[in-house]
Amino acid sequence: MYITALLVLFICLGFSVTHPSSHKTTIEQRQVPDAEPSPAPVVFMDEPDIQNLNYIDPSSGLPFPPLKYVFPSTYLDPECTGAEELILKHAWRVARDIVAAQTTTFRDYNYDFPHSCWLGDDWNSAGDHSKYIADSFKLIQRLFGGLMKDKNIIVWRCSESSNPSLICRTGIDGTQLETTATTKYHVGRQGRGYWVQTTLFCPRFFQYETLKQQVERYKDEKEGQLRIANFEYRTAKTMLHETWHYGVVSDAIDYVYGSQACYKLARSNGAQITSLNADSLAYDGLAIYLHRKFKSIHPPTTEEHLEALRAQNPLSV
Ligand SMILES: [Zn+2]
Repeated sequence: MYITALLVLFICLGFSVTHPSSHKTTIEQRQVPDAEPSPAPVVFMDEPDIQNLNYIDPSSGLPFPPLKYVFPSTYLDPECTGAEELILKHAWRVARDIVAAQTTTFRDYNYDFPHSCWLGDDWNSAGDHSKYIADSFKLIQRLFGGLMKDKNIIVWRCSESSNPSLICRTGIDGTQLETTATTKYHVGRQGRGYWVQTTLFCPRFFQYETLKQQVERYKDEKEGQLRIANFEYRTAKTMLHETWHYGVVSDAIDYVYGSQACYKLARSNGAQITSLNADSLAYDGLAIYLHRKFKSIHPPTTEEHLEALRAQNPLSV
């Protein structure tokens, strides 16, 4: 009985401490100088990604209108200028041609040279990775052909984003590395199993040369046509690299970048890893495309590879 009375007393005291009058609470909260700011309102989080045929970015901003004559269900950042839109569309068209060269089986073409060079000598040996390469080729061919799994959309940005976090400059002070383009995909708000694949194209991307310019430069230079380094940095190759990151195509990530590193990766790790490295897959397509275009004696490759070929057969290159 005595304990019960004490408990009632504690409860009453507790109540009086934790529930002061509403008037007093309001005044006290206003007087606390470093009180937690009230959370920012969440914009659109309960709304679907697509509204009135436009994509609505989760971190708000202007609607992204659909972009025609590229991938299906693609939306363009309204911050992109007209000139940037043209560069993106041109890069997409050339990337489509590269993928066509890479994934169409031309009976008279020796795919072993480029695939061995960029994917590894075991690219066609029995195993999960060779099947994975074949399946990925089919998916990227379908995507450039206008077919994509339902419940997926592609978003192209020219401005940085906080959600998903996509930035052009990385490093501790935000200035150490300037990327060309970067891709992330995240679960959309349209419902279960819905994906948004977002690529941010950075200022550096829009400064690159086009393939047309580079092909023109080397059209009469037989030696130059054999060096992949002459064709590495251009808009279509970047577009293609980013496309290999789209979940609708493959699970490719970035183990290494650049032709030298990709060539070495193929030698050291083979197809098990190169089949999941976006740059390796992009170089493979680029080499086949250029080889067919120039009708050179073999596809363009690295200096190291060219030296090895010369050592084997001085007349080969
Ligand atoms: Zn990448």
